[in-house]
Amino acid sequence: MEEKEFGVGKKGFVLCVCQGTCPSFKKMDIFNVLSDVRREKIFDYVCLHPQLCVGDGEEFLKVLLAGKETDKLYIAACDPRMQEKMFRDAFDAAGFDRSRLVSLDIRNKTTEEAVEAIKGMVAPAA
Ligand code: SF4
Repeated sequence: MEEKEFGVGKKGFVLCVCQGTCPSFKKMDIFNVLSDVRREKIFDYVCLHPQLCVGDGEEFLKVLLAGKETDKLYIAACDPRMQEKMFRDAFDAAGFDRSRLVSLDIRNKTTEEAVEAIKGMVAPAA
């Protein structure tokens, strides 16, 4: 059976919020961030995950990417270097090239700051 290639061109966005209880996410309204980002129509889909860096979070990423329809995955969460390490195995298992991840540190931002920063993830290069 022919192996499906990535590259359909969909942009997916995941907001990860350390279970919503971490002080780093207290300044923003998580649901307003998602609603505002969704209204911008810059991603093909947006979703929230409470804790991507544990077992079921890894499973979520594997299932999400299994259909190979996501060309780029944008994750707003903690430190981008940590994200690269934490999600590496899930990406490898899904055959998702790590260079297709765009990660952002969203911690300690207000709702408005978070939305602006997320919009900046997809801003065309100057
Ligand atoms: S991936 Fe980062 S933001 Fe998400 S739960 Fe883990 S440490 Fe927290």
